[in-house]
Amino acid sequence: MDNILCSVIVPMYNEEEVIPETYRRLTKVMEELNENYEIIFINDGSRDNTRSMLQELCKTDKRVKLIDFARNFGHQVAITAGMDYAAGDCMVIIDGDLQDPPELIPEMIKIWRSGYDIVYGKRISRQGETFFKKFTAKVFYRFLQKLTDINIPVDTGDFRLIDRKVCEALKQLPERNRYVRGLMSWVGFRQTAIEFERSERFAGKTKYPLKKMLKLAMDGIVSFSYKPLRLASFLGSIISMASFLYLLAVLIQRIFFPETAISGWASIIAVSLFFNGIILLMLGIIGEYIGRIYDEAKGRPLYIIRELKNMEDREGPRFKI
Ligand code: UDP
Ligand code: MG
Repeated sequence: MDNILCSVIVPMYNEEEVIPETYRRLTKVMEELNENYEIIFINDGSRDNTRSMLQELCKTDKRVKLIDFARNFGHQVAITAGMDYAAGDCMVIIDGDLQDPPELIPEMIKIWRSGYDIVYGKRISRQGETFFKKFTAKVFYRFLQKLTDINIPVDTGDFRLIDRKVCEALKQLPERNRYVRGLMSWVGFRQTAIEFERSERFAGKTKYPLKKMLKLAMDGIVSFSYKPLRLASFLGSIISMASFLYLLAVLIQRIFFPETAISGWASIIAVSLFFNGIILLMLGIIGEYIGRIYDEAKGRPLYIIRELKNMEDREGPRFKI
């Protein structure tokens, strides 16, 4: 069988503590494979020594490539840039903190060779993560599956191998607030899972604080479902029906029992708080969608690159440096 080129895509944000070990383990696995490979690190605007450490690696090892972002554009954008510049016949997207075991890559390539286009890692357990993170992740993946019509596999992160075909298809989706694993389900192709135990972070702390987690969750839901918007019409119709009945009751009371019709402060406040709450909630949901429409309308590039290393000749699809 012909030798293939496998691109390994590794986003890095303030990961100085893990870089040497990640590089060591990735290189070991890829060397043993006896295939051509390249490791594309994306420095997502780190504020520590990540950038200079990756630049050093690029000097000593030409198979290491670097995409250096001009600022922090976020994990999903980083892996998108990796796919934009990858030259491989297949590519593996893997977290830089060794929570996704590189040792699984040979097995993924084997499955890919047997004819699958996407081999995604499904987490059967997660170590070293807080109860809160595990619980919210579990609930979120199931909630998202209920909301969407496409089948986005549960308990699956971005750790996966994809074929060049999938990457080319993804490049045609220019949307901004990206939930990459959802987009991959959307494009389709033959997909299969490989189960693994998600280990602890090798070092350092999570780069996904609650705020980024919520943003990712919102992107997942809003990009793949209109159901939250429909909630407005649903709640609206229920409430109008209830209000109509209440209005009838009030009228009947006013006409037939005027002496008991004393206006109550508490009930007015309760009703007004309730309705205002619902209205604000619905405005918020609509706002989530409108904000994203605005992002699309601006048509800005998805990311800005400060420098490319060991692949200066490659052209990204979105803009030139
Ligand atoms: N990451 C990134 N940009 C960010 C946040 C995270 O490139 O803004 C990278 C990070 O360096 C890591 C991967 O995305 O390689 C996953 O992040 P992390 O391990 O912190 O998330 P967790 O595993 O805790 O969900
Ligand atoms: Mg991690």
